Amino acid sequence: MNQAIIGALDIGGTKMAAILANADGPLVRITQPTVKNGSITALADQAVALLHAACERAGVDRTMLTRVGVASCGPFVCVDGMLGIAPPNICGGHSGSPDLPNDWTIIPLEKVLREHFETVAIENDCVTALVAERTFGAAIDVPDCVYVTWSTGIGFGLCVDGRILRGKQGNAGHAGHMLMSPDSNAVCGCGNRGDLEGLISGRNLGNRVGQATADVFQAAANGEPLARTVATEAAEWFGRGLYNVAATLDTSLFVVGGSVWEHHADWLAPIVREQVVSRLPALTQGVTIVTAALGRLVADVGALALVMPNEWIPRWRETSPWRTLA
Ligand SMILES: [Zn+2]
Repeated sequence: MNQAIIGALDIGGTKMAAILANADGPLVRITQPTVKNGSITALADQAVALLHAACERAGVDRTMLTRVGVASCGPFVCVDGMLGIAPPNICGGHSGSPDLPNDWTIIPLEKVLREHFETVAIENDCVTALVAERTFGAAIDVPDCVYVTWSTGIGFGLCVDGRILRGKQGNAGHAGHMLMSPDSNAVCGCGNRGDLEGLISGRNLGNRVGQATADVFQAAANGEPLARTVATEAAEWFGRGLYNVAATLDTSLFVVGGSVWEHHADWLAPIVREQVVSRLPALTQGVTIVTAALGRLVADVGALALVMPNEWIPRWRETSPWRTLA
């Protein structure tokens, strides 16, 4: 078993990463810009080729690689019992956007990967992050926990009674699209007005206020009053979103990641926390909000964890070998 190799893919709207690991830790990680033209299988073919290139780089015979975990942007659509992906920022067939030179609607990711690998586990990136934090990070042994990212988008990974929720097509946790404000002009990429992502995500908040979101939060951190008002309001919306999730799932722990949170957790956390714990004590007392332990590696580590043999886990917890990926 020591010779066993596992593979992982991290598929995003702009780049794709392939990682190989053995029982000691990651061996190689390579990235490419995500393919957005060609046939409907072009992206999935790229994923296979990238894993094979990783094998070559690591000096591993590609036939050794039979288990692959995948963190992918969603949403997912089930076709013939297998997961396809339909991300609006990759598939031009949804919007006809000129920067997406394809007419794809659903990419048959699982079908293509299964032609090459025996075991394939695909989850959306927030579910994968949740798996990473539950296996190696801030939520080990916490049965009722939620991972949430506050980044370009807002997404959740949900765990109740020790079971990760997936839903009818693997899309559980798309709570960034929960409607918050019916009369808002905040437009989300999904088409909603006034959903959580439309109101506060890195992409949409910046569009709404006409300034890069990172600049708004930096100015707020420096005490600039107007930016502080905008950022505080955003943190309050975020906190209400967490409250809604806690009230729905009886959550005890939120693990928060994403670039907005990573840079500004110190002053955002009290504002967010207040929105959660100031309501319905029976549901919210003792709810804690912590920062994700795995940072930017959360998707890579989670994708590996999806297919990792259980006996590797104690050693990885001890040695944190994923740090070589940073
Ligand atoms: Zn939305």
